[in-house]
Amino acid sequence: MYDVVVVGAGPSGCIAAKHAAEGGASTLVIEKDREVGIPVRCAGLISRRAIEESELREREVKLFTVNRIKGAVIHSPGYDLRIEAREHAYVIKRDCFDKALAEDARNSGAEIITGCRVVGIRHSSWGLSVEAVKAGGGREEIGAKVVIGADGVRAGVARLAGIKLTRNLLSCAQIEGCYDGESAYAEIFAGRRIAPGFFAWAIPLNDHTARIGLCMDDKFSSPHSTPVRLLTRLLSSEPHMVKRYRGSCSSHHGYTGGAIPIAAGLKLQKTVKLMHGNTSGILLVGDAAAQVKPITGGGVYYGLRSGKIAGEVAAKAVSAGDMHMLKDYERRWHKEIGKEIIFGAWVHRLRCVLDDGDLERILRALGRERRRVEEGGDMDYPSRILVGFIKKPEFIILGMKNITRYIWQLWIDKLE
Ligand SMILES: Cc1cc2nc3c(=O)[nH]c(=O)nc-3n(C[C@H](O)[C@H](O)[C@H](O)COP(=O)(O)OP(=O)(O)OC[C@H]3O[C@@H](n4cnc5c(N)ncnc54)[C@H](O)[C@@H]3O)c2cc1C
Repeated sequence: MYDVVVVGAGPSGCIAAKHAAEGGASTLVIEKDREVGIPVRCAGLISRRAIEESELREREVKLFTVNRIKGAVIHSPGYDLRIEAREHAYVIKRDCFDKALAEDARNSGAEIITGCRVVGIRHSSWGLSVEAVKAGGGREEIGAKVVIGADGVRAGVARLAGIKLTRNLLSCAQIEGCYDGESAYAEIFAGRRIAPGFFAWAIPLNDHTARIGLCMDDKFSSPHSTPVRLLTRLLSSEPHMVKRYRGSCSSHHGYTGGAIPIAAGLKLQKTVKLMHGNTSGILLVGDAAAQVKPITGGGVYYGLRSGKIAGEVAAKAVSAGDMHMLKDYERRWHKEIGKEIIFGAWVHRLRCVLDDGDLERILRALGRERRRVEEGGDMDYPSRILVGFIKKPEFIILGMKNITRYIWQLWIDKLE
């Protein structure tokens, strides 16, 4: 019997477990994969702020950092915008990052078991009973007062608890391949043909290798489009990419697919459920709660931020014996990142209905104010700079031009 059981040993789950254990709660993390951090489903680009939020020591940070990025070049079909960032972003080895977070959680007193999949959650006399199946066979029933669902985009805990999921999924594909670009600049490729409803990227690991991938919003793609097909086309026919990608040098490796949840219907995911006459409760964090930046698809920072709050709140609720205190978790993460996610979801929907000409006009407008973008831009809080732009006449005209398609799409989102 544990005070807190965390399902999933990704970044959100590990930091939640660390803070629950530090708050005095007996804490267990259950991870379905045999090894924490593997397989990797991430491009591994995170901000300095995310590194700080991870609470890992500089020595560990050095071990999982492979490159630093000081800017980006955004390509639209007819215009390229180059931006220098105020602060370097970090390119990390996600498996090593996740392992370091798991070790940190262990050092704080949390137990972690791997190769064990949670398949059920039931009421029991002590609160909740978590049913888990081990990789080699065999079932276990583990008691918990609070269960934290940090089980990623598939959100199994939410489904088991009957919590409605309010999100869209983007489909993604990525490879690591030989690449002959500038090692300190990420490249972004936008355009309906390239990545409908989202974008493609090249994130250099060094002078000769990059993670190259893309995400698409299925609702805005033709029925035969898949991320793998679009990625193959990007590598073989996008003019900038053709210059840089060296498919011939022992070809590519490190293929990963995956999905990214985006808040849908402009609503935030419900993340707290009190159970069994309010004697126990379930919290959702990270991708399971669609705590992802809808503009860029990055989820590591928001997952760490929310995981930390979830762990703290769970430990306090258990220690006070008052599960109503779990509601504090939702209030706190809404206050910190809720508006940013809703704003991002509006921008994402707008991006989905814009044509390539409009996209290019937006990039040109941003290019005219490049200095402001560079000084005020923030990869974790993009609204801080974008809100100012949305009020400008050229953006209002673009909005008016696309308003019918946009409202139609919002209405469809609302029905889902
Ligand atoms: C292609 C791609 C590129 C991305 N690039 C970036 C990027 O550059 N920067 C960024 O910030 N974000 C990026 N993201 C998003 C980022 O990877 C996620 O937001 C982040 O991993 C979320 O962390 P998490 O801990 O919530 O979930 P996860 O990291 O998905 O961890 C969930 C864990 O739960 C485990 N689990 C699932 N079900 C069960 C079960 N039933 N029982 C036990 N364990 C279970 C899983 O095995 C997994 O280990 C990318 C995503 C994709 C798909």
